[in-house]
Amino acid sequence: FFTSDPLLKIKNEIYEIAAKKQLEIDELKRLQAMRSEFLADVSHELKTPVFAAQGFIHTLLDGAVDDPTVRDKFLQKAANSLDGLDTLVQDLISISQLEKGVIELRKHNFDAVPVVREVFEQFELRAASRDIKLHLDVQPGEEINLFADATRIRQVFINLIDNAIKYGRDGGNIWVSFNEGRKKYTVTVKDDGMGIAEEHINRVFERFYRIDKSRARSEGGSGLGLSISKHIVEAHRSFIAITSTVGKGSTLRFKLPKAK
Ligand code: ADP
Repeated sequence: FFTSDPLLKIKNEIYEIAAKKQLEIDELKRLQAMRSEFLADVSHELKTPVFAAQGFIHTLLDGAVDDPTVRDKFLQKAANSLDGLDTLVQDLISISQLEKGVIELRKHNFDAVPVVREVFEQFELRAASRDIKLHLDVQPGEEINLFADATRIRQVFINLIDNAIKYGRDGGNIWVSFNEGRKKYTVTVKDDGMGIAEEHINRVFERFYRIDKSRARSEGGSGLGLSISKHIVEAHRSFIAITSTVGKGSTLRFKLPKAK
């Protein structure tokens, strides 16, 4: 009676400690696996454009291309690969800063309307080349006054509109609209493009997650755009969500605080 009870207690305590340690070990293993996967993803993504550029340049150096038009085409392709590499490196820097939480948001009051118009202008030619129309659903003279980091929010619009064009349909539409709530605006970026199947929808915000890898890559996608956008919106203590129907299109929604 006197001896077994405290022994049992000690035994149970040891079990408890062991179970806790096992959980810690599992968590460390999980983090380690995530890190390795991330490194593998990054190396793969970096290798792709480097290999491509190397290929084009070596072909040129080997003198295989005498035709000046073909030569120019090869040079252009090498340049495009390197541009892609540059975008990827910029995205990686953004994501690592955002994930470390070292980004200090520079929040101030600003009108989102001119910001969206500017982003539209930036994509005007690309959209027009596929006859995609960009719509900004605001009244003439209407202002959408937000309290946020304008530069970062501009980046979110760039990422979302870039996607809406990439995965949009020729002759399609992209709508940006704002819904005023009590303290926040809900921003909506909607397209009538290819849409996303249900099994992928919960994963598109993950780093490097791409549904159709070959298509996304040929369009210059790194699989980081949505992940960066999510980080930016969450840094504003808000959230972003996606709904989509295959063949009908996708809708991205996020909330941002109204101007003070
Ligand atoms: P990517 O650089 O590949 O576009 P993102 O992180 O921006 O990377 O998007 C991740 C994936 O989600 C894309 O590869 C694409 O498959 C899918 N996706 C994103 N936006 C849309 C959209 N508007 N319509 C259909 N699919 C989309």
